[in-house]
Amino acid sequence: MSATNERWNIFLRKIQAKANEFFASMREQALPMLKNNNGDPMPVGTALHAIHLQIVELCRKVDDTWANQVESAFQKEGASGDEIEKSRIHGEYVQFDLHREFRLLEADVNCQMAKHILSLAQAAKSTSPIACSQCSAPLVIPEHIYMSEHITCMFCQTVNTYEPGTYQRMVGTFCAEHLARWAALDLLKEEIQIQRELIGLRGGVLQKAKQRLRETHEAYSKKYLDGLKKYRPNLNMEKELKMAMQHF
Ligand SMILES: [Zn+2]
Repeated sequence: MSATNERWNIFLRKIQAKANEFFASMREQALPMLKNNNGDPMPVGTALHAIHLQIVELCRKVDDTWANQVESAFQKEGASGDEIEKSRIHGEYVQFDLHREFRLLEADVNCQMAKHILSLAQAAKSTSPIACSQCSAPLVIPEHIYMSEHITCMFCQTVNTYEPGTYQRMVGTFCAEHLARWAALDLLKEEIQIQRELIGLRGGVLQKAKQRLRETHEAYSKKYLDGLKKYRPNLNMEKELKMAMQHF
């Protein structure tokens, strides 16, 4: 292996190691941070965003280092066009993998938080039943109710307003989304793997891989929406799937 190639590989490994440090610390800190903030996922969301910016910055560093130093070093060494292209693509794979690891981190951390918030919502729910404001009969609260809703008393027909608690509201939005994504994670990983393969492909093979990507994205979206429907029974699956597929 040439000296330039070796230096380039070492540089890329350092970039990956730096990113892995960010990922590991986030995985460790997410749940304690959520608990310290009374189940508010916002601070962790902000921390995730900050890590994403770091990843973007690391990827920019790969581009800059290649353009400003590595490519010309290869040329001075007399490397062939093929060898140079192979090394450039190696950098591209590393950049892709940083983004892939970030997406998986995000899915993991958000799922951990969703499970915790779900348990907080369940704990808050199991208190005394809600009584009609007029006749005090217990009201029948539908299982999936995450926004304020009018509930008619079955005894006196008074319309009561039911206000779900903070955590209950989050079940229908935050938890539903992230638990559904987690349940479909295998297909998401498969989709990302196909995206990675696209980097090195050209021509007819590329078109075939794109078709596989489309099919996998559809399978993933269906599974994700199935998971979401558990929490949102009124979800319009057909419309949602159409939206999920519009860029494919
Ligand atoms: Zn009543």
